[in-house]
Amino acid sequence: MDDVEEIRRPKFRGLRGVVGSKVFIHPCSICGCAVAPFGIGFSSARKEMGTWYCGDHVPDNFWRIKNGKSE
Ligand SMILES: [Zn+2]
Repeated sequence: MDDVEEIRRPKFRGLRGVVGSKVFIHPCSICGCAVAPFGIGFSSARKEMGTWYCGDHVPDNFWRIKNGKSE
């Protein structure tokens, strides 16, 4: 139903044809492009997938948010 949102959601996915593989997919939350290296709120320990941005959509205040200071 909500395919676009689903595509942009970070998730673990197995590689096709590779049994037991697990790759963390974290597309840009704005445009959905696959290369989104800027993540906020990701925590493997807490199983939080975070919110990810590509170079074009990383917010101006990304590093402030990243360092734990909100707005
Ligand atoms: Zn983007």
